[in-house]
Amino acid sequence: MIFLKTEDEIELMRAANLLVAATLAEIARVIRPGVTTKELDRLAEDFIRGHGAVPTFKGFPNPYGWPFPASICTSVNDEVVHGIPNDRPLQDGDVVSVDCGAQLAGYNGDSCYTFCVGNVSEEVRLLLRTTKEALYKGIDAVVAGRRIGDIGYAVQRHCESKGYGVVKEFVGHGIGKEMHEDPQVPNYGKRGEGPMIKNGLCIAIEPMITLGSPQIGMMPDKWTVKTMDGKCAAHFEHTVAVHQGKVDILSSFEEIEEIEGKLY
Ligand code: MG
Ligand code: MG
Repeated sequence: MIFLKTEDEIELMRAANLLVAATLAEIARVIRPGVTTKELDRLAEDFIRGHGAVPTFKGFPNPYGWPFPASICTSVNDEVVHGIPNDRPLQDGDVVSVDCGAQLAGYNGDSCYTFCVGNVSEEVRLLLRTTKEALYKGIDAVVAGRRIGDIGYAVQRHCESKGYGVVKEFVGHGIGKEMHEDPQVPNYGKRGEGPMIKNGLCIAIEPMITLGSPQIGMMPDKWTVKTMDGKCAAHFEHTVAVHQGKVDILSSFEEIEEIEGKLY
């Protein structure tokens, strides 16, 4: 069942998502070669809890019942999603998708940004740029009266036309009091198909795009998902609401991009 949100609920969702945005901006300030993803995780957890919120990912169970051990997912290079923070220092040329969720006053925020560590190859920067563009193309398709398939169609067309792979096993989702609600929001689809987009709909749109083949595999930790061909992946995510017929982006990359500059 899709839970449509009231205007008041959308403002609570905005507060949670702006806290997630601020957390990702804290990470943007410190991410560089030599830093470990575990250090980023500690910083994120302290920041979220310091603002009276709960890091939603911590303890979140996978389908095997294994709780996620950290407050952010850090997926490096060929890791697509759900990478577990560890003690390996980040190296010049790495890219890291940092996915962050926080629950504030009972409502959830969810957003992801793929960061460059030092000097990243032009080929990979282009993947990042295209994935971020695809996210905004998907967001542009969020109009009351249209359908969820329109979003996936926009994302898929933009990425596949440039020769990139679209991961299909993981999808965006409704979001509200629960981090994952109906409907599913795939990064592929057909125009005019799927549930109708209505006022009060809150969804997370999150293209997961690969440089090579979109085939993925699960690591033995039963969380980390990697590309099968070992090539890089990118992941950008915004939580959005439909408000007066139009899309309203509740999360934000503004502060991250002020720090990062227009790198790509
Ligand atoms: Mg996320
Ligand atoms: Mg999500």
